[in-house]
Amino acid sequence: MTTHASAQESATLKPLESALAASVVDGEGGYTGVEATPEWADEVRRLAKERNAVILAHNYQLPEIQDIADYVGDSLGLSRVAAETEAEVIVFCGVHFMAETAKILSPGKTVLIPDERAGCSLADSISAEELREWKAEHPGALVVSYVNTTADVKAETDVCCTSSNAVDVIESLPADREILFNPDQFLGAHVKRESGRDNIRIWAGECHVHANINGDELARRAADNPDADLYIHPECGCANSAIYLAGEGTIEPERVHMLSTGEMLASAQREAQRAENREDRKVLVATEVGMLHQLRKAAPDVVFEAINDRASCVYMKMITPSALLRCLAEGTDEVTVPADVAEKARASVERMIAIGNPGGGE
Ligand code: SF4
Repeated sequence: MTTHASAQESATLKPLESALAASVVDGEGGYTGVEATPEWADEVRRLAKERNAVILAHNYQLPEIQDIADYVGDSLGLSRVAAETEAEVIVFCGVHFMAETAKILSPGKTVLIPDERAGCSLADSISAEELREWKAEHPGALVVSYVNTTADVKAETDVCCTSSNAVDVIESLPADREILFNPDQFLGAHVKRESGRDNIRIWAGECHVHANINGDELARRAADNPDADLYIHPECGCANSAIYLAGEGTIEPERVHMLSTGEMLASAQREAQRAENREDRKVLVATEVGMLHQLRKAAPDVVFEAINDRASCVYMKMITPSALLRCLAEGTDEVTVPADVAEKARASVERMIAIGNPGGGE
């Protein structure tokens, strides 16, 4: 165990306030030993101001990271905040592909992620090489990629999509062109069903967190809570089950709401404005458990419960109070994207924005 905060360790290291420095110890990939105390919050704010940095936090981050951030939201919404901010440095508390998207949309700014090892099992479901091979097997097909993809995959993509606008994106494309949809098989099944197109090929990728929110659990929780609404992210393994159960009458269709994370928050805000019966309301939520923090803040009278309370993304939770402190103190880990890749990737994101209703992705 070594005390950190020596100025020789990094040319960009900003000295920590002494009381906090005494509690910091080196750990693999970041500081350890730091709790989210008021002193930590003061130091994070001080360092952010010194660096002219804005702190962005995804909805799936730890509550203490969400609470210290300047903005909390979904991946694309945060990238758009990053592009509009006057700050020189973007500290993206989320996973790596999200920070890459911020860099793609803000090439002139410095983008930092508190721990560059924070990956994503869904984004890792397909590589640029695999996508090139798939394209070669289907010449003439158009590629639609969910925003949960690496910059390299976006650069091989015709149009990106989010869970809010995936159906609109598909419907904007010529009906006679084959579509290669990647990487999420559950979102792919959703758009295929909604668009009614039969010329969509779907990559068999998945997010390990959402895939584990399964139909059996959904059916059981819905039966145990007959008055509760269901907020379901279309990436979830239970999404098809929800549609099926609603279709066959096991769950009333009006209880099932297929929503992106941004749409979930907007729906909670509407719940908070209801004049009556808010305290009798319960909502079962099928997405990563970090989302519950923002929903509960938006509508404190409403009971929000996870359908699967083990649905926690280990990558998102790598952004700890220690890692955020290290990031601001040392100016690491910087996220870079080669200019040619960024240019092609940006084109696929901008084509999506031109189609409209991008919402915010995950
Ligand atoms: S919850 Fe799933 S899709 Fe989201 S960052 Fe984690 S692994 Fe990726």
